[in-house]
Amino acid sequence: AKTSPIKTVNPFNNELVKSFEIMGDEQIESKIAVADHAFQTWKKTPMADRAQLLRRVAHLMRVKSVQLEKLATLEMGKLVTESRAEVGLCAAIFDYYAENGEKFLADQPLETPQGSAFLSFEPIGVLLSIQPWNFPFYQITRSAAPHLMAGNTMLLKHASNVPQCAQIMEDIFLEAGFPAGVYQNLFIPGSKIDVLVADKRIKGVTLTGSEPAGSSIAAAAGKYIKKSTLELGGSDAFVVLDDADVEQAAEAAVRGRMWNAGQVCVSPKRVIAEEGIADLFLDKVKAKFAALKVGDPMDEQTDLAPLSSEKAVEDVIKQVQKAVEQGATVLAGGHRIDRPGAFMEPTILTGIQPGTAAYEEEIFGPVFMFYKVKDEQAAIDLANATDYGLGGSVFSSNNERAVKVARQIDTGMVYINHVTGIAPELPFGGTKHSGYGREQSQAAIYEFVNSKLIRVT
Ligand code: NAP
Repeated sequence: AKTSPIKTVNPFNNELVKSFEIMGDEQIESKIAVADHAFQTWKKTPMADRAQLLRRVAHLMRVKSVQLEKLATLEMGKLVTESRAEVGLCAAIFDYYAENGEKFLADQPLETPQGSAFLSFEPIGVLLSIQPWNFPFYQITRSAAPHLMAGNTMLLKHASNVPQCAQIMEDIFLEAGFPAGVYQNLFIPGSKIDVLVADKRIKGVTLTGSEPAGSSIAAAAGKYIKKSTLELGGSDAFVVLDDADVEQAAEAAVRGRMWNAGQVCVSPKRVIAEEGIADLFLDKVKAKFAALKVGDPMDEQTDLAPLSSEKAVEDVIKQVQKAVEQGATVLAGGHRIDRPGAFMEPTILTGIQPGTAAYEEEIFGPVFMFYKVKDEQAAIDLANATDYGLGGSVFSSNNERAVKVARQIDTGMVYINHVTGIAPELPFGGTKHSGYGREQSQAAIYEFVNSKLIRVT
């Protein structure tokens, strides 16, 4: 299995830890068959029983938190303190759907002058969930918790660099008492996924990842008339209005951008500051960068972790170099950190011109793209000058003004005086090329159900 693309490589020192065999066609066929078979019973399992199983998953995640957090940090390099927070968030999401699922899925009466009518929310079958490595447990959780609660079964294709995180979650579902086949892993490379979408037993597909992967899966789903949801990349604007609390804004920006070494879909990638506040903001950001402690992500004192892999750091460095070739200026950082592992300096790029690669693309690493603008309208125009539309932030000491700006930003989420966040009860998702559909909150549970009308005369 040495040449398998599915493996654990520790990005702190680039050592290969463990390889996994790719599943063969027969094994995949048997997993689909088992998932489809399990659906026949799972869809009729009382909701209270499903909720109880979700609660047990939450409980087991809390009990095994240390083991889970170490695995995430080992496989993709995030700070162990961030891994711990992620495990806690996952447990909270499982509990949230356990608590609220039955209420969300209750029949919904409809007003009609003709007889009486209601919606009945019915599960559709086996779902294919394709997830990225950047939040190895949370990505699993936010697709599994609502859709399993709704009575669907799931096949998870996790990213190839987090197989141990994938494995332990499958183990936890079984240990919690989920019937065999309700939730299973597929160890196959991304390039082999399209063909599975054609399988008649697979009824829907949910993907979080890059735009090319999303486009390819959505094309396959469209061809076979299957529902899909996509959570893709983002290049979120972090708008700092001239009346913002500049210390609060700089602190949030740096924490937000360094979170997960910059590898967050809703990280504040483009800082857009009004000219009255821009220079002071920049000074504060630079000082905060200088204070970051780089080191072993397993060490609780470390602030800046490595990127997820050698390729990830190389790709981000190439993007920065290209930006410079195309006229941008590096105000801070810009290089690898001179030590083993996939480390990169916290970086600030400025002078990025429309039409250049950096202006258009998402940078998935610890890099700010910094823009100084003359006024609020220019900030809004620039925030919208991207194909992406995931999240965003507006900083201002005037909430009314900030909300007015937020309404004009074309994304799925805008947070005022906070980086784009994550909470079980709040919807998460984007618009434009950032995808469609919502995860978390009440909204997510209806993505893969048949909202069936029943009318009684
Ligand atoms: P990626 O290459 O698209 O990988 C994501 C998942 O898709 C992995 O499981 C991958 O498998 C699989 N995959 C790759 N190519 C595929 C294809 N052609 N068909 C089907 N599946 C395919 O994404 P990444 O670069 O690792 O992850 C970072 C991206 O995800 C960024 O753009 C980030 O913004 C986005 N993201 C978005 C959200 C959100 O909620 N909107 C959240 C997190 C991340 P392999 O590992 O086997 O290639």
